[in-house]
Amino acid sequence: PGGLERHAYDVVVIGAGGAGLRAAIAAHDAGARTAIVCKSLLGKAHTVMAEGGIAAAMGNRWPEDNWEVHFRDTMRGGKMLNNWRMAQLHAQEAPERVMELEDWGALFDRTEDGLISQRDFGGHRYARLAHVGDRTGLEMIRTLQQRAVQLGIDVFMECTITDLLTGADQGSKKISGAFGYWRETGRFVVFEAPSVILATGGIGKAFKVTSNSWEYTGDGHALALRAGAALINMEFVQFHPTGMVWPPSVKGLLVTESVRGDGGILKNSEGKRFMFDYIPEFFKAETADNEAEADRWYEDKANNRRPPELLPRDEVARAINSEIKAGRGSPHGGIFLDIASRRSPEFIRRRLPSMYHQFKELADVDITAEPMEIGPTCHYVMGGVEVDADTELTGVTGLYAVGECSGGMHGSNRLGGNSLSDLLVFGRRAGESAAAYAAEVGDNRPPVDDAEVKAAQSAALAPFETEGGENPYTIHQELQQTMNDLVGIIRTADELSKAAEAVEGFKERVRNLSVEGHRQYNPGWHLAIDLRNMLLVSECIAKAALERTESRGGHTRDDFPMTDDGWGTKNIALTLNERGDGVELTQQPLPVMPDELKTFFESK
Ligand code: FAD
Repeated sequence: PGGLERHAYDVVVIGAGGAGLRAAIAAHDAGARTAIVCKSLLGKAHTVMAEGGIAAAMGNRWPEDNWEVHFRDTMRGGKMLNNWRMAQLHAQEAPERVMELEDWGALFDRTEDGLISQRDFGGHRYARLAHVGDRTGLEMIRTLQQRAVQLGIDVFMECTITDLLTGADQGSKKISGAFGYWRETGRFVVFEAPSVILATGGIGKAFKVTSNSWEYTGDGHALALRAGAALINMEFVQFHPTGMVWPPSVKGLLVTESVRGDGGILKNSEGKRFMFDYIPEFFKAETADNEAEADRWYEDKANNRRPPELLPRDEVARAINSEIKAGRGSPHGGIFLDIASRRSPEFIRRRLPSMYHQFKELADVDITAEPMEIGPTCHYVMGGVEVDADTELTGVTGLYAVGECSGGMHGSNRLGGNSLSDLLVFGRRAGESAAAYAAEVGDNRPPVDDAEVKAAQSAALAPFETEGGENPYTIHQELQQTMNDLVGIIRTADELSKAAEAVEGFKERVRNLSVEGHRQYNPGWHLAIDLRNMLLVSECIAKAALERTESRGGHTRDDFPMTDDGWGTKNIALTLNERGDGVELTQQPLPVMPDELKTFFESK
């Protein structure tokens, strides 16, 4: 269509979080003409909120640490459902990526010997998280952003991509570009490119209580599905054990795991340190079963087992949930996280400055003097676009996915700190592969199909066409409540079926949705567009959760409480159905780990 704003690049990266920025830098370095498109302002990606650190087996605190132990921890944390090759590459390459960030100007906290300091986190055998106080994501984004801008990579901010373009020849499923709108003016824009990298982050806004901000509506997940790619692991949503529960305006806001990594403990209303009652068989050998040993571990890891507060997140979130349900919760419906009685005020203020201010300003609680009230919050989606481990290529030629919107790396549960490292390792790989493919295509790039662009335009404008229809906010709120109540930490077949049915109902209602006003900065319209994506993603989560009749990692079925070996060798893939109005499931075998890697699990 004439008059439409158009830009042509070799590689277009959708998303400016750690994954998108690292991918764009790699694509640029490989010689590709590269652009970044992001929905919010540059610098306001989720990555900036990351607090605890970047997991990398650098061995600065514990020389015993190495990629093999990191690989093993990651696989065990994911209950062996991870794509082994991704977990291997991640563990092997993370240290190099952290050093590179330092070369580019990131100022990490140091050990006494001047090395990059590393802190303890749940599920990691050794102190492994490179960090900058509790503001690691901020430093990471600052560094990557500065580099991207210095290199002259073009950035299109406040521009939302609503559809991928897959070329004139529908059968061939080759990327030809992406279609979007400027949030401010509502005008449309087409990016022509043979390579598109999805780096759009998570899906948290489909749930009511979440640590995620407004941008995380599963756009990349939905864009990939609609373009013909598959999603995997969507039943695995991570509920972080510690979100704020009070005041209501900040319910869900994250309280970093570093509080526990630095010595904080969990207590119920009876003052009991209850995590000792919740140590699963799987982790018994490596978890302290008494307070004295747990407390000694912080100083002497070689001779003591780790405190149960540092079990993987799924275990801790379930334990907290059980305590609250049993009536041993805190006044505002959470439980207590106490670092005040365990560490000096100076230590707390130095190590956890953001947490200190967050509680002081938002809840009027001084965390150096009193415990915090916390409870589980929807935090991260393990599920995402299925990719090739080495290249991050999806099932659609020219389409790559990286970071939180990709799947496989974390299996059924992600360890803290393993996201930031994931962004760097696979960001670089995706950027390089996307650039190589664009170079190979050369001038033979798939042309953008005008009919496809017109269809994307009409889909985006549909909410203006209906008068007197429903308002998107109502449907969004109902969806969030449904996902929270029926697809939360503990699930049953009955509730999941109800959720899937409810989502079908929302899909019907969304067809008859209206928004008021004009295309100029219109949040109601933006939500109407995002809602399509959230519904598709919610359908994937509910259906996959119903299909997986076992409990594993971030997926707990009350009606199937045990882990089932039969399910331990397969994942669930979701693709768009032929009519394009829903998703279908396939159970597929996991890639088989080579024998030499299997030995890590036998000997340690
Ligand atoms: P994001 O950083 O989420 O960026 C997504 C980008 O995509 C944004 O620029 C957004 O504007 C853009 N976008 C989305 N949709 C569209 C669209 N349709 N069109 C255009 N642009 C779009 N992990 C760790 O490893 N360690 C930690 O300590 C840690 N702490 C965390 C603390 C908090 C409070 C939260 C919420 C998460 C934390 N995580 C942590 C998780 C980690 O921060 C995220 O998983 C990670 O930052 C995701 O990075 P990303 O690059 O994939 O996406």
